[in-house]
Amino acid sequence: MKLKKTLIATGVAAIVLSCATNPFSGKKTMAFVSNDQLFPTSFAQYNQFLSENKVVTGTADANMVTRVGQKIAKAAERYLDANGYQGYLNDYKWEYNLVNDETVNAWCMPGGKIVVYTGILPVTKSEAGLAAVVGHEVAHALANHGQQRMSAAYVQQGVALAGNVALSGDQKSLDIFNQAYGVGSQVGVMLPFSRSHETEADEIGLYLMAIAGYNPDEAAELWKRMNALGGEAPPEMLSTHPSNESRIANLTALAPKAKAEAAKFGVTSFK
Ligand SMILES: [Zn+2]
Repeated sequence: MKLKKTLIATGVAAIVLSCATNPFSGKKTMAFVSNDQLFPTSFAQYNQFLSENKVVTGTADANMVTRVGQKIAKAAERYLDANGYQGYLNDYKWEYNLVNDETVNAWCMPGGKIVVYTGILPVTKSEAGLAAVVGHEVAHALANHGQQRMSAAYVQQGVALAGNVALSGDQKSLDIFNQAYGVGSQVGVMLPFSRSHETEADEIGLYLMAIAGYNPDEAAELWKRMNALGGEAPPEMLSTHPSNESRIANLTALAPKAKAEAAKFGVTSFK
């Protein structure tokens, strides 16, 4: 295990690795932080973020964010229940907020805390395009990708670990948390997701949007529009979610599989 070697090399002692199971691949993944510790921090950080930013309510766009979020959450529950993970979302406290900010981004913190920035709406264009983004972000959360990013960041920054990391509220820990979950550029360089995490979130996200009744063909179209914004100053979404041509090809190839998955749940028409 490369990471373990790195830890030993950096002289960090008394490491206890805890594991979380990825409900989609069934694989054990390493996590320094358990949901018991992570969720309270996540919920507090989310509330703080909302208090410091302009939440949009009562508009057609805000209602769309809520509607899409609820449908994706419901799809996740149905999918997990059907695949032997009943109760996986018990501690989730889903929330969906649209924030007035020109940043082209969206994220989902642990426990189902979603933010969509108004700046991404011209790129998502339609409700199905937004469902592609929200499905993808929720997929990262369900597969614990942020936890793995955060674990890697702790190692990189040489933060001493004894047992589980205590998210005690010290600024360094909170900065790492925010970098891992995409909360804001004010905390410095955001951590990108790895290619394998992106591929996994794309596939899970496609299933979720399809089960929620949104046309999975729209995911490839969304990422084509996103990639077109690249260049010298790529949007936040692209810096944290590296993308390339193979992502579009992969999404296009997987869309029929997502429709077949949705059919298992009685969903055969898409908007
Ligand atoms: Zn991603």
